[in-house]
Amino acid sequence: MIWCRSILPVVRQIKSRWISTGSRLTSGFSLSTDIPEIENFKGVNSYKDLHKFSITNPDEFWGTLGRSRIDWMKPFDKVSECDMHKGSFKWFLGGQLNVSVNCVDRHAAKTPDKVALIWEKDEPNETEKVTYKELLDLVCQVANCLRDNGVKKGDRVAIYMPVSPMAVAAMLGCARIGAIHSVVYAGFKPDSLAERIEDAGVETVLTTDQCVRGGEVIELKKNVDEAVAKSSTVKRVLVSKRTGAEVGKTPLDIDFDEAVAKASKWCEPEVMNSEDMLFMLYTSGSTGKPKGIVHSQAGYLLYTNLTQKFVFDYQEGDIFGCVADIGWITGHSYVVYGPLSNGATTVLFESKPRYPDPGRYWDMVERLKINQFYCAPTGIRSLLRSDNSFVQKYDLSSLRVLASVGEPIDHEAWEWYHTVVGGGKCDVVDSWWQTETGGIAIAPRPSGAGDKIVPAIAMRPFFGIQPAILGRDGKEDTSLGANGACCIKYPWPSIARTIYGDHERFLETYFNKYPGYYFSGDGVRLNQEGYYQLTGRMDDVMSISGIRQGSAEVEDVIDEHPDVSESAVVGIPHEIKGEEPFAYVITKQGVTGDIEQLKTDLQHKVRERIAGFAVPRQMFFADEDILPKTRSGKIMRRILRKIAVDEFEELGDTSTLAEPAVVEKLIQGRILMK
Ligand code: ATP
Ligand code: MG
Repeated sequence: MIWCRSILPVVRQIKSRWISTGSRLTSGFSLSTDIPEIENFKGVNSYKDLHKFSITNPDEFWGTLGRSRIDWMKPFDKVSECDMHKGSFKWFLGGQLNVSVNCVDRHAAKTPDKVALIWEKDEPNETEKVTYKELLDLVCQVANCLRDNGVKKGDRVAIYMPVSPMAVAAMLGCARIGAIHSVVYAGFKPDSLAERIEDAGVETVLTTDQCVRGGEVIELKKNVDEAVAKSSTVKRVLVSKRTGAEVGKTPLDIDFDEAVAKASKWCEPEVMNSEDMLFMLYTSGSTGKPKGIVHSQAGYLLYTNLTQKFVFDYQEGDIFGCVADIGWITGHSYVVYGPLSNGATTVLFESKPRYPDPGRYWDMVERLKINQFYCAPTGIRSLLRSDNSFVQKYDLSSLRVLASVGEPIDHEAWEWYHTVVGGGKCDVVDSWWQTETGGIAIAPRPSGAGDKIVPAIAMRPFFGIQPAILGRDGKEDTSLGANGACCIKYPWPSIARTIYGDHERFLETYFNKYPGYYFSGDGVRLNQEGYYQLTGRMDDVMSISGIRQGSAEVEDVIDEHPDVSESAVVGIPHEIKGEEPFAYVITKQGVTGDIEQLKTDLQHKVRERIAGFAVPRQMFFADEDILPKTRSGKIMRRILRKIAVDEFEELGDTSTLAEPAVVEKLIQGRILMK
């Protein structure tokens, strides 16, 4: 229901501001055990020294870790050769390796029976486990099957499959023979898939008959057939079974399972140069047409290896639970490459957070004894709308680290995650990064024992990361309280190498605006304690009477109201002020209050806590979640901006929307508002 006028006269009181001062790291970074390489670094006696060393001696730092953490076929002879102006990044030059060997073979040799993958299928209690030895066999079989079917080193292979051991084996099978995978989220419509196939010149598509998410069947093979009919490049489609349903056949089809079963369980790994492409992956498309981001072999492997270990405090024997889909970078780096390169047991989550009920994540944590749990703020927000008993009935004592990624996490969600899920005992880690950074760039961990975790901010740059805040004058501002564009000053090993087929767009998007820096597109503030707080996308920063105001901060205040589930604030043109805020507010389930009163309360809170200029005069209320979100759960504010100013016809690329139907509801609501 969309509310445009007052309803019932009950309004709950606004809760006081979260007063939590955060917590302390439960386990600090241990120099001698976490990083035995330390003996090579002169003058490093503390975590702080080590971080400083990593940015003042990057080649020595990364070179040492590159040698000790990666198994090389031929050692590298130069650590880095980078040029920010040209967007040219080379790491570990002269080195040769195979990423699949690093993720599987070396663990299969030492601990063959250790579980590598736990597949938590759509229906709870339907888990399947795959050991390292079994994974090695499967990866080799997939690799041989690809080779037998004509896939060569350097070919692009589209993987349009649900999160599953077969999909992981497909990614690693590509890596084994030097093919470049492009995972496309299984759920994208045929047009989106066709666009990605065409852009990458894909000849081989790997898919399944169907997939199931939240009990709902998605016709993957049918989507592939439609996409392939529109593309000029595809030569073969390998189809594996997920549900076993009868699906249509075309002359391009090959039975993937049958071909894999016949293939040999040993496949000689291809010798890859450090800078050969490992994969390409399209960004979420929150801001426009998705970009085909390219990552290469060694630098990406090393960076995801280290961040998975240190940001999450991964210890041997832990069960690592990142619930992201493999269609996103989080799935690549923290479901597959990071954990497997460390020989971890990693969870593959095929379902949805509210299926069959809002306790699904916590039921899984209890059953699988998950130690690190990593999800998106949108998941947390959707769960805190429901009763806490969905969390509290499970034994969550295995959890040590709770992390989030994808959007700024608001205080209410952070606090709920910390107290209700973590019982106040876990490190809650907001992690900021992007498809383009390859791995986590800013997060509260690692740091020294007992160091602070400030609620709802990403805080500390990872080793080798030097954030820089660029002001509107194009100059770096290093003062406490500085607020501006979030840039990174010095390249790190997993920085994106290019946008596939469009290096010009790569330069234009990330390097030309602030010459000499990588520009992330996000805003950041350095707080009074010297910690970094991401403020949202620069496009979402409003300029109200010359004052710059991030939408995330206004949303944070609105979201705290006990009747509000989620909100999105956008800037719309204003004759005098330049821009003014417009708020979309989703109320919690069962809220039947006086909406006019709720609006007044929210405006009052924003005025009190931020300032009068930040108060949205116009507010759109709805009691069902109709915010337009990408399939990775991010709010597409550009659509909301258009709807707020009645430009219903000019919504731009909406192909990455999870629920395209919400757009019509928003438009109807906007018309009713007047
Ligand atoms: P596109 O680039 O196509 O618009 P996208 O930026 O949404 O899509 P991703 O690379 O998946 O695609 O997302 C990275 C973005 O997500 C970051 O630039 C940032 O805006 C947001 N983000 C991720 N983690 C955080 C976080 N912890 N805090 C704030 N924002 C975050
Ligand atoms: Mg982006």
